[in-house]
Amino acid sequence: MFSTRRAVLGMAAGTLLGQAKPRVKDYTLWPVRATSRTVWLIVQLQTDSGISGWGEASDAFGFASTSAAQAREMQQQLAAFVALMQGRSCLDIAHYRKMGEPLARAGGLTAATAYSAVEQALWDLTGQTLGVPAYTLFGGPIRDQIPLYANINRATTDRSPAGFAASARQAVAEGYRALKAAPWDGYPKITADHGTACTQAIRAAVGPAIEVMVDVHSNFTVEEAVRVAKQLEPVGLRWYEEPVAPAQVAETVAIARRIRQPIAGGEFLFGVHGFLPLCRENAVAVIMPDVKHCGGLLAMTHIAAMAEAHGISVAPHNPSGPVATVATLHAIAGLRNCEILELQWGEVGWRGELLQPTEPIQAGKAEIPKRPGFGISWNERLARKHRL
Ligand SMILES: [Mg+2]
Repeated sequence: MFSTRRAVLGMAAGTLLGQAKPRVKDYTLWPVRATSRTVWLIVQLQTDSGISGWGEASDAFGFASTSAAQAREMQQQLAAFVALMQGRSCLDIAHYRKMGEPLARAGGLTAATAYSAVEQALWDLTGQTLGVPAYTLFGGPIRDQIPLYANINRATTDRSPAGFAASARQAVAEGYRALKAAPWDGYPKITADHGTACTQAIRAAVGPAIEVMVDVHSNFTVEEAVRVAKQLEPVGLRWYEEPVAPAQVAETVAIARRIRQPIAGGEFLFGVHGFLPLCRENAVAVIMPDVKHCGGLLAMTHIAAMAEAHGISVAPHNPSGPVATVATLHAIAGLRNCEILELQWGEVGWRGELLQPTEPIQAGKAEIPKRPGFGISWNERLARKHRL
């Protein structure tokens, strides 16, 4: 009986081990122009078996739009990271992380973003190769869907209180129960009080049942941040994001001690080491790793585990295109301390159709895809039509 069982196990293992693993061969960068402010950089990682994995490398060049020259710079950065895997099995992700992480850490945000895009694509490929959704590789899901909050900032071109209120009302009408804006963009040209008035207008427009968050984009000093937070107490913010830069840990702690709102932040930090100071000092209540910059899916789960040990929740930064959104869904499917995900709201109607099947988003929620890998394929025709 023992020998029969061993034979069966051996056969199963032999089948898996004997199977040819797709080897990484080449890559293509797809730059897609969404709006005047938004370009999505989508990475296709090709293998010798014909299957492709997908990753996203957007938003590495600041909050302004990405230029064609910057897209070429990303193309260069990607070459160095793809080279680490050339000819290797797409399942060798630990090897990729060991070789790539030091380069990513030394190379700044652009390198970290290129590294993270390839990491994403490797999980997609591994899931496809093994015939399981990518989230299975991180222990399986604890949810089928996750609430999305609408980041209404980029879609709000009328930057007056009435303009923010109109976007907020529209997002709520579409089914979103949580919203975020960054009404201090352009500070100090626009005043702190103007941003405060926009935030108050959002609350007045949507009523008390909707969650409202604001992102200061690191515009304030400690004193300015405290003054504005006190003004905003009646608004009842779910969080107050990056009043100062996340690298200013002591300043963030100083603000957190003096205000009532939870602080969120960390969107451009890399790896567990990058997030360690904010966690160790309990500087934030909500940490915001971005799958495009933090090192990818496995890094996100490690950062979330470290945050959990410090009583900090995770709300991934995701003002991204559809590929990073699906990658994030697979990374957070099994995370206990993650309750909400960002979505860049109201940009272009064809966004969802870049993926086949269509991006799994409706009425303020995202469904976690159950097909192998990320469960997506790329609409090349549409991507060509909107090529940067
Ligand atoms: Mg932010």
